[in-house]
Amino acid sequence: MIQSYKKKSLLQEKYDTIIIGSGMGGLATAAILAKEGQKVLVLEKHYTPGGFTHVFKRKGYEWDVGIHYIGEMQRDTSLLKKLFDYITDGELKWADMGDVYDKVVIGDEHFDFVKGVKNFKKQLITYFPEEERAINDYVDLIFKAVKTSKNYYISKAISPIWDTLFGKFFKSPFYKYSDKTTHEVVSSLTNNETLIKVLTAQYGDYGLPPKQSSFVMHASVVRHYFDGGSFPIGGSSQIVKKVDPIIAASGGTILVSAEVEEVIIEKNTAVGVRMKDGKEFRTTNIISNAGIMTTYNKLLPSKIVEKHRLKEHLKKVKRSVAHASLYIGLEGTPEELDIPKTNYWVFPKENDHDTCINNYLKDLSQPFPLVYLSFPSAKDPDWSDRYPGKSTIDVITLIPYETFEEWAGTSWKKRGEIYENKKEEIAQRLLKEVYKQLPQVKGKVNCYELSTPLTTEHFVNYEKGEIYGLDHSPSRFRQSFLKPRTPIKNFYLTGQDIVTAGVGGALFAGVLTSMAITGKNVLKKIL
Ligand SMILES: Cc1cc2nc3c(=O)[nH]c(=O)nc-3n(C[C@H](O)[C@H](O)[C@H](O)COP(=O)(O)OP(=O)(O)OC[C@H]3O[C@@H](n4cnc5c(N)ncnc54)[C@H](O)[C@@H]3O)c2cc1C
Repeated sequence: MIQSYKKKSLLQEKYDTIIIGSGMGGLATAAILAKEGQKVLVLEKHYTPGGFTHVFKRKGYEWDVGIHYIGEMQRDTSLLKKLFDYITDGELKWADMGDVYDKVVIGDEHFDFVKGVKNFKKQLITYFPEEERAINDYVDLIFKAVKTSKNYYISKAISPIWDTLFGKFFKSPFYKYSDKTTHEVVSSLTNNETLIKVLTAQYGDYGLPPKQSSFVMHASVVRHYFDGGSFPIGGSSQIVKKVDPIIAASGGTILVSAEVEEVIIEKNTAVGVRMKDGKEFRTTNIISNAGIMTTYNKLLPSKIVEKHRLKEHLKKVKRSVAHASLYIGLEGTPEELDIPKTNYWVFPKENDHDTCINNYLKDLSQPFPLVYLSFPSAKDPDWSDRYPGKSTIDVITLIPYETFEEWAGTSWKKRGEIYENKKEEIAQRLLKEVYKQLPQVKGKVNCYELSTPLTTEHFVNYEKGEIYGLDHSPSRFRQSFLKPRTPIKNFYLTGQDIVTAGVGGALFAGVLTSMAITGKNVLKKIL
């Protein structure tokens, strides 16, 4: 049962495993281990569980933070659907977003991504008839790249001996695609700059533009949504609500407002955690879902970090960019306001994605390189029962952490007037984009609130407000330390950093971590 650390009335004497963080990876690991009979304690810093899957409420509205659409939920046979069904006992229900899941807007031109591979290709060919061959070849390459992924990720969970013997065999086909940037691959198929811009428009789903991102990351996102997008019925908070009873059934607990200060390590073996208030919990296994940067920089004792040269590892990876989200509350139902389910990806008319980002980073008054509009209340069929007569819109753009860095260390809601003014300026720019795309909502906005990279730092503990943990560059996928096992005995990692960003990536990380801990092929069992 989810409860506050301050009350902790139901706390057990002893747990088999402690998980730091209740993000998707932490929850998935907890549920799988619970199904293996383990008593698991999940410790969450925030006052509400779920990591980026949490929702927050203000002024009679509710907003989802890190879920706008999930792919592969349409078919019961898909791996991801099976995983979700396993960790929730099939209790989590999904609503399909309809035929068009993403709309790419470049200047005044619109390009729809239609669900179903054949439809996707057909629609793109209507926009670019002379590029039929390139579009077909592109889709083939997406499938080929994704096909190599399963063995690569599974190799992260196999024992070190097996990895030494067979790791190369598992990983080499994957490297063929992961070593290339998205731009290298796509520009080898076509030199039509508009088509390249459209095909790579979903880069916002992993945070890195085509000339910097690994093609496998791009391919996995594109493939993920080929069958369309889905939204959890009742909102993202349903995930933790449906996972919680599974954890509880084995005697486990999720504690919120429970910040871990340090992992206790004796003779290179993790034996427990020390909380911020000094209380200690001892256990057999400890898993960090807090992100590798936070884990190595903040949660492990410095002597251990030095002993294993863990900071050297961190130098080989980069943090992903930070973001700002504008959460808008409107008067009127999604139907009354004619709010779509489709996500809008809005880009400047001129220049490719990388150039737009570079120009913006040099001068933040330049057009946003990307504005993403999502409409959670329209996607959730349960919304109007919970919030009659209301709607919400989420708008996201990239913002460097440095923009707000001078307020780091100040308290949430008390950062002062200059900070608030800066937020308001960004909010107005984003609202302008909303009115441009959906003029009918002008005059219907009841309230809005902008989150900054400091909000992400405050609520989800990413030190520089990273949106997606680590950057998805080609070199990231070469880093063998991004896996569940660490050099410290009984201490493991899970979550987006050991697979990829995305709820699906974090969930799969939970499978890998459970496999590494139990030594059992839990994936086979789930399938
Ligand atoms: C704006 C945004 C939109 C997104 N949209 C989508 C989308 O539409 N579809 C999709 O698939 N993915 C989306 N994502 C990505 C997805 O939400 C994440 O990749 C995924 O949820 C990360 O899960 P995780 O397991 O790595 O943990 P996280 O969600 O990162 O959670 C880590 C948890 O650890 C806790 N923690 C940290 N330090 C401590 C400590 N010391 N003690 C206790 N607890 C601690 C944090 O508070 C947090 O709850 C989005 C992300 C963002 C930010």
